[in-house]
Amino acid sequence: MAEFLVEFEWFKDPSGYELLEAVAPRPWVPKPVKTIVGEMMMMEPGLLTQDSGQPQKIKRKGGELKRYSPLDKYNSLCLTFCQYVQDAKSLFEFVNEFGPLTQYGLEQEYGEEVAPILVHADSMRSRSTKTALFDAGGLYLQSPRLALIPDEKNKTFRLQISPKNLLDALWLQFAQLCQENIAFRTCEYCGDLFSAGPGTGRRYDAKFCKPPHQVAFHSRRRSKTARDMP
Ligand SMILES: [Zn+2]
Repeated sequence: MAEFLVEFEWFKDPSGYELLEAVAPRPWVPKPVKTIVGEMMMMEPGLLTQDSGQPQKIKRKGGELKRYSPLDKYNSLCLTFCQYVQDAKSLFEFVNEFGPLTQYGLEQEYGEEVAPILVHADSMRSRSTKTALFDAGGLYLQSPRLALIPDEKNKTFRLQISPKNLLDALWLQFAQLCQENIAFRTCEYCGDLFSAGPGTGRRYDAKFCKPPHQVAFHSRRRSKTARDMP
């Protein structure tokens, strides 16, 4: 199997983030304008005068960005992403913890748009079982970037993969976990998603996120059965 190096650093704002609600575009009001032939009513907004409103966004507060390596630090961050991020509030909490998902979120004047990121989280979640991934025909990623880096000393080359943002990195991590035959499952007791298979500490066909939940599930069922007995 080809060895490759994943190079990825990302940034967090230690001052935190704020969730800005969407702003609806202001309705266009026809107004009189002076022209050379006299005053006339402008009936349609011009391209520059049109107000397009603002989508819901997460903006950073403007502290000095702190650099870190998400993939080295968290070996199943993609799981947290697709399990946890289901709406604006949970995305906001994810960003506070791990930083924004794209370059826009790093730029103070733009901010991270909420809606497109939720589509990604949903799409990853919908592929998080082996059957679903097979049904989807696998996974095709546009990025991350690939590079062949010369190793001068050994006169060889190394394949290097550089995700361009955190979203890219999460998809790459997701693809790697899927390739390693690691399954994402929902715990039958608590409903949390967990990873199972080689190297995860849980068997591939495990039904519970941890042994105590297996015990709790069965004792709950036993007491329910006992209650239901005539
Ligand atoms: Zn559980």
